Amino acid sequence: MVFDFLVVGCGLSGATCARLLAEKGKRVLVVEKRNHIGGNAYDYYNEEGILVHKYGPHIFHTKEKRVWDFLSKFTKWRLYQHRVLAYVDGMYLPMPINLDTINMMYGTGYDHKTIVKFLAEIREEKENISNAEDMVISKVGRELYEKFFLGYTKKQWGLSPQELEKEVTARIPIRYNRDSRYFTDPYQGIPQHGYTKLVENMLYHPQISILLNTDYKVILPEISFASLIFTGPIDYYFGYKYGKLPYRSLEFEFETFDQEFFQPVATVNYPNDYEFTRITEFKHMTGQRVEKTTIVKEYPKSEGEPYYPVPCPRSRELYRLYAEEAKKLDKVYFIGRLATYKYANMDIVVKDAMDLVDLIIG
Ligand code: FAD
Ligand code: UDP
Repeated sequence: MVFDFLVVGCGLSGATCARLLAEKGKRVLVVEKRNHIGGNAYDYYNEEGILVHKYGPHIFHTKEKRVWDFLSKFTKWRLYQHRVLAYVDGMYLPMPINLDTINMMYGTGYDHKTIVKFLAEIREEKENISNAEDMVISKVGRELYEKFFLGYTKKQWGLSPQELEKEVTARIPIRYNRDSRYFTDPYQGIPQHGYTKLVENMLYHPQISILLNTDYKVILPEISFASLIFTGPIDYYFGYKYGKLPYRSLEFEFETFDQEFFQPVATVNYPNDYEFTRITEFKHMTGQRVEKTTIVKEYPKSEGEPYYPVPCPRSRELYRLYAEEAKKLDKVYFIGRLATYKYANMDIVVKDAMDLVDLIIG
């Protein structure tokens, strides 16, 4: 069979492209090297019947109504708002840092107005915010940076925050109010029956064929297609011709306990203790009612499955070489977190995929 499109990778970016192209009447083959759909958003029911996220906690949040509306065609949502505590100085404190975090930390009674003054006193003026350390210090000063950001960032990336681009820590706001949500986007939730079901519904279309357990390079000589959409690591596509791009990986340690809950919120971050960065308890996110509970600890590492592009000037430069190569190709498109080497959340990869299909097909 001749396909109009070969889509490499069956994560959210690949599935979005496949669905939209199929709706435009195109014949699409999706090839995925893992044994499942969903990419890094994949979830499944473990032996205890608890819905867990195989590749770490995934909370959907977006400002983009267009993205929310598109995904809502394939799932209902549990309207969940994520909350995180950071374990610092023996206390569980709201993260992102807000009014309560500071009052609990220092035993103070600041209000909305006086906190502004306090932070103005402790923040360090920076003329040019050039890295992930400056980003935080310019907002909350050195002490809070060292307690909440320094250790976590070193663990997560294996680099000092000075070596990382400012966008890394800019993801975490500092709040002058008592809002304890991790995200404030207007659309937030967890797919009611999970991400895998959501992606399965997206792919359920007569114009879409799926091949799992297959590296696309192995079957290239045997398939015919007019255009290629690639969502895997861009350096792999080009046979590492400029060298390997660094990706940060993680080891996930799952544990199930014979108790209703393990911790008070879905995620607790450990910036200064232990080797893992955070513990997530899935039931808080999914709202599942079962007697036992499952948690996951995340241990960062440099080798293994590529999960995070590393936002630092050196890797940005190397990526640029690959991006230049990509531009020269006809009818080959690079999209998604690994192929565009972008620290992108799920909503952004879906949005980029929607834009790409608009561009290709109109
Ligand atoms: P992927 O999901 O990585 O899919 C790419 C697919 O391509 C993979 O399945 C891979 O196996 C396949 N592939 C690669 N090479 C080949 C090949 N040679 N042949 C065939 N197939 C191949 N985002 C949020 O919005 N909210 C969150 O809370 C959140 N939490 C996260 C937590 C963790 C620990 C991680 C790692 C990411 C998190 N994200 C979160 C980001 C989210 O996972 C990504 O934005 C999204 O999954 C990217 O989708 P994608 O399709 O671009 O890539
Ligand atoms: N971060 C931190 N302390 C925290 C939470 C985050 O230092 O308690 C920094 C760290 O560098 C992390 C980045 O902010 O990699 C982005 O955090 P986020 O929670 O968005 O990470 P993700 O969920 O993408 O792993």
